[in-house]
Amino acid sequence: MEQPKQLIDKLEETSRLTKEEWIFLIENRGTDTADYLFAKARKWQHHYYGKQIYTRGLIEFTNYCKNDCYYCGIRRSNRNAERYRLNREQILECCQIGYGLGFRTFVLQGGEDGWFTQERLEGIVSDIRNGYPDCAITLSLGERPKESYQRLFEAGADRYLLRHETADEVHYKSLHPLELSAAHRKQCLWDLKEIGYQTGTGFMVGSPGQTSAHLAEDFIFIRELEPHMVGIGPFVPHHDTPFAAEAGGTLELTLFLIGLLRVMLPKLLLPATTALGTIDPEGREKGILAGANVVMPNLSPTSVRRKYELYDNKICTGDEAAECRACLSRRIESIGYELTVSRGDYGLTADAGEI
Ligand code: SAH
Repeated sequence: MEQPKQLIDKLEETSRLTKEEWIFLIENRGTDTADYLFAKARKWQHHYYGKQIYTRGLIEFTNYCKNDCYYCGIRRSNRNAERYRLNREQILECCQIGYGLGFRTFVLQGGEDGWFTQERLEGIVSDIRNGYPDCAITLSLGERPKESYQRLFEAGADRYLLRHETADEVHYKSLHPLELSAAHRKQCLWDLKEIGYQTGTGFMVGSPGQTSAHLAEDFIFIRELEPHMVGIGPFVPHHDTPFAAEAGGTLELTLFLIGLLRVMLPKLLLPATTALGTIDPEGREKGILAGANVVMPNLSPTSVRRKYELYDNKICTGDEAAECRACLSRRIESIGYELTVSRGDYGLTADAGEI
């Protein structure tokens, strides 16, 4: 077997590793390998996106959910979750505030909440589309029939985020109730791509039972899907879930995997996630230096922020959108990057030719 650095070179050149090579690379990483990887990751990040960090305004519009994922704080069995949903006017107000702050992408994320029927969702999407023709609309509403995705696309949505969570069916079953499957989750992602959405997938790092073989499968699936975005963040336990006592994912492994994603698919949109900022005060900055190029601050009203508690100690639950934006701007400038006002579409070439 080649050495870790040679495998990173191979990944850069061919964009693929075998399952055994992925496992070896992940299990034999060290500080030296990580530094080598991050230098390459930043080279590609700069090549396609310069020093620009894109920002998406996240609107967490409902925490009602019919699903019961074992890791998630808003699972239906959590009787202690205080439920809320934003109405159409409140969602549009979030967009208005966000637009004023320079956001050109709105991400509507929520639990799988039946109150938001197809008609209601289409109405909200088309209102945002008409009110903000220069903005991208991203949805993150879980698994839906292809027909529903299609109609939401026609109503004006451009992008969809649906993490596959883990590519391995047995591991998937250990994180979710029986009625959910990795196969169906993946099918939804193929449907979304086929319809024409800019599609984001991803997974939690260090979810209970995750092995390097599972991570190898995640990379192989992502390479095959070729999504536009991949969101990864550490698993963080939530006190009111079956996984309350499980260990969380680490900063070190999450950063390494961000670097690998950037080198495997160099044009990817890669968020430095809130979960990463939650387990380390400078997690998001470190994520950017490992190859990430997107941040997704919260635009939800502060009155509901704390209630969208997917995991414990989530950061930024007390700040107004404007404060969040200013804080992130400062953080990003402190490491030599710049927060940009742009839709931040996939594969922008900032200074192509430099490589
Ligand atoms: N209902 C939507 C949105 C899910 S919330 C959907 O099904 O896609 C967004 C992401 O938060 C999830 O995909 C999951 O990967 C992540 N998440 C949930 N619980 C978490 C936890 N305890 N720690 C870290 N990330 C978590």
